[in-house]
Amino acid sequence: MTALPGTVSRTGARVERLPLARFTTLGVGGEAEVWFVGHAEQLAEALEAPYRILGGGSNLVIADEGVPERVLRLTGPLAVADLTPDPALSDAETVVTGWVGGGVPLPGLIRKLQKLGLSNLEGTVGIPAQVGGAVWMNAGTRFGEMFDGLHTLEIVTPEGRRQVTPAQLSWGYRQSGIPRGHVVSRVRLKLRRAAPEAVLAKMDFADVARKGQPKMKTPGCAFKNPGGVSAGRLIDEAGLKGTRVGNAMIAPEHANFIVNLGGASSADVHALLRLIRERVGVPLELEYELWPGQD
Ligand SMILES: Cc1cc2nc3c(=O)[nH]c(=O)nc-3n(C[C@H](O)[C@H](O)[C@H](O)COP(=O)(O)OP(=O)(O)OC[C@H]3O[C@@H](n4cnc5c(N)ncnc54)[C@H](O)[C@@H]3O)c2cc1C
Repeated sequence: MTALPGTVSRTGARVERLPLARFTTLGVGGEAEVWFVGHAEQLAEALEAPYRILGGGSNLVIADEGVPERVLRLTGPLAVADLTPDPALSDAETVVTGWVGGGVPLPGLIRKLQKLGLSNLEGTVGIPAQVGGAVWMNAGTRFGEMFDGLHTLEIVTPEGRRQVTPAQLSWGYRQSGIPRGHVVSRVRLKLRRAAPEAVLAKMDFADVARKGQPKMKTPGCAFKNPGGVSAGRLIDEAGLKGTRVGNAMIAPEHANFIVNLGGASSADVHALLRLIRERVGVPLELEYELWPGQD
């Protein structure tokens, strides 16, 4: 039996029909049936019908019509970080933590690790993801990436739950090797002990690289850099900075960012993406994901 929106499922997951805009950094997206899952049993039930996983919504442009599948949000224990060092696996230099839920917001986690004097993940500072989403695509910067600090991953699929180590995955630049739809439900972190001030200094250094980025609602960079050329520069050279469709705009600060001025629709954003592709004479590959599907 499937749970109806506004109810609680067989295993206790809250199910509601909600606008997805509120779960994304762009603030755009129509309704879907959202499943708030807090533990393995609820997760298993949620995977019994077609589904999508929503993390921090920081790499998504979701259609104004929403999506037909159920949308999973990791909450409760799956959004909690146990950073206690495992005595069997930690020593004077290295700490292996307890489980960190896939639904934990990455920015807060990075701040906590800094205060605890635990290094390896500070290069990901400023990425507004959840741990699961950031692991799924090995988010990072030139100062470091998620796989710099992973010990074990728990992955859940409709077939069940398993634990893997990074060595068992073919991870690389901005990809984990984990197939789409496999849920990163929890991870254990492998970190180096360091002085909190030293970790903070690295975070500050990595943060400087973001100074030119817009502060408004956005899903991050729109396009990958084609053949090493800056996509932002190409869009800027096409004279598109500041161009507006409806309430979406190509950021005046950085042309590879589309921002929501307030009340933008997914259609506005798509129109800007099309305009950029028409005006820039080079094929451009999208950086973010479009729900329900790619253009
Ligand atoms: C201002 C800004 C700056 C950014 N800077 C960077 C940067 O420096 N480096 C960088 O790499 N990225 C950056 N991004 C992009 C984005 O933060 C990353 O792509 C991030 O990994 C997305 O994670 P998320 O949790 O928000 O995932 P979402 O956007 O919610 O989802 C993205 C994909 O991950 C999947 N997913 C989400 N959670 C899980 C899970 N638990 N298990 C399995 N799959 C999951 C989703 O199904 C979807 O396919 C930036 C974005 C913004 C808005």
